[in-house]
Amino acid sequence: MIDISTPDQIALLEPVERFCRDELPALAAECEETGAPPSREWKKKFADLGVLGVNASEQFGGLGLKATDAVMVLERFATVSTAAAFPVFEALVGPVRIIEKFGTSELSQRIVPAVIAGDMVVAISMSEPGAGTALTDLTTRARIDGDDIVLNGTKRWCSGGGSADAYVVFCRLSDEPGARGIGAVLVEADTPGVSFGEPEKLMGWRGVPSADIHLDEVRIPRENLLIEAGGFSRLMGAFNLERCGNATMSLGLCAGALKQAEAYVQERKQFGKPLIDFQAVQLRLAEMAVKTDAARLLIHRATSSFGLDGFPENMPVLMAKCFANEAVRAVTGDGVQLMGGYGYAKEYGMEQRLRDAWGWGIAGGSIDIQKINISAALVGRRFDQRQ
Ligand SMILES: Cc1cc2nc3c(=O)[nH]c(=O)nc-3n(C[C@H](O)[C@H](O)[C@H](O)COP(=O)(O)OP(=O)(O)OC[C@H]3O[C@@H](n4cnc5c(N)ncnc54)[C@H](O)[C@@H]3O)c2cc1C
Repeated sequence: MIDISTPDQIALLEPVERFCRDELPALAAECEETGAPPSREWKKKFADLGVLGVNASEQFGGLGLKATDAVMVLERFATVSTAAAFPVFEALVGPVRIIEKFGTSELSQRIVPAVIAGDMVVAISMSEPGAGTALTDLTTRARIDGDDIVLNGTKRWCSGGGSADAYVVFCRLSDEPGARGIGAVLVEADTPGVSFGEPEKLMGWRGVPSADIHLDEVRIPRENLLIEAGGFSRLMGAFNLERCGNATMSLGLCAGALKQAEAYVQERKQFGKPLIDFQAVQLRLAEMAVKTDAARLLIHRATSSFGLDGFPENMPVLMAKCFANEAVRAVTGDGVQLMGGYGYAKEYGMEQRLRDAWGWGIAGGSIDIQKINISAALVGRRFDQRQ
């Protein structure tokens, strides 16, 4: 990796890299083996390392650093595994940033320090059985009732569903159709009326449990309102940071696969010489490296940009996410290929990288829909998908 970190970033990353090298592989193996997310003890270790509040405001006990610093830390964790990195993902780029930005000061004061301390994980719940790419078709309803808000509906594919402590739930807060009626609220997992479906069995992401969330007359205080109906574009603006995190999780998988493949092709011999001496292997390895670095640069450009409410700007985020999501499928696929039978065997870990890789180009908006939005921004038109 060609390092363009500043001296401050090097100082920030040095203990993180040591932790990810020396301690995190044990957690990654445990999550893959059991399918369980990192325990509270592990989250406490993350908190002690100071990584759960890198870009959180200092008023809540965070380091107050920038989004680029946060994704640099996240990349180190994601290089080891998706499941081991997931609590860091949620704490740095997840919906806790929506709470910090749009929640009341009382709510932020209650939630953000708990996340930084490793005592709480907040997950995002947007998708529904009938609303995926067409997110504005969501039907979960929230009605204001005096000092309370009452929710009814079913959410799907929520990463952390059933294991997170609280959820930022996108819901209909008015009768206005489409995006205009959508806002968001915070729902804590132990609120009466909240229940979870069976844990989903996914291709990868073992150790990132997900499940349907059923909301049946769930009554929450009005203080938990984050964004009123009509604020959908602000929600999606904030979600741009999570998309940078999604791209960074892809990047981490690329970096991990590259490092593993690099070592393997120098060690493994065929025809009496190391694999790296064959030109076809050299070309494949170089392509993996170029894609990894290009993804990193696009992500850092995106996290350095300023869009709505100070969150990263749309176009650089779309480009970074869609490039990194495609790169990670190619790079981890090349990793499996370069390791031959050992790449395909569970024991060596490369096949896990490939399985984990695939999900990122579906989560947070599919690769194709990002491309449609890039074209729309290029020509200055919105392509109405309903016509
Ligand atoms: C691993 C993983 C983690 C996830 N985590 C979360 C989470 O934490 N919270 C949450 O709310 N959701 C989560 N999701 C859900 C995710 O956001 C949706 O899966 C995604 O938005 C796609 O929706 P869908 O699955 O309903 O697919 P669909 O919308 O049915 O799309 C299926 C395919 O059709 C394509 N397609 C659809 N419409 C168009 C169009 N107009 N033009 C071109 N192509 C189109 C899509 O690109 C896609 O390839 C997660 C999903 C995965 C796989």
